[in-house]
Amino acid sequence: MTNFRCKRCNYQFSMQIDKLPRSCPNCGEKETVLKEQTAQDMLEESN
Ligand SMILES: [Zn+2]
Repeated sequence: MTNFRCKRCNYQFSMQIDKLPRSCPNCGEKETVLKEQTAQDMLEESN
């Protein structure tokens, strides 16, 4: 599972794909979806 977030509407979702969806499933805006860091990733980065 990969977590994604839309930078326009802040909608968060997860999908079983590794590439970015072209458009946000919530607001429909194109190229606003980013790969979201997991809580685990953030913990590792803050060390
Ligand atoms: Zn959106």
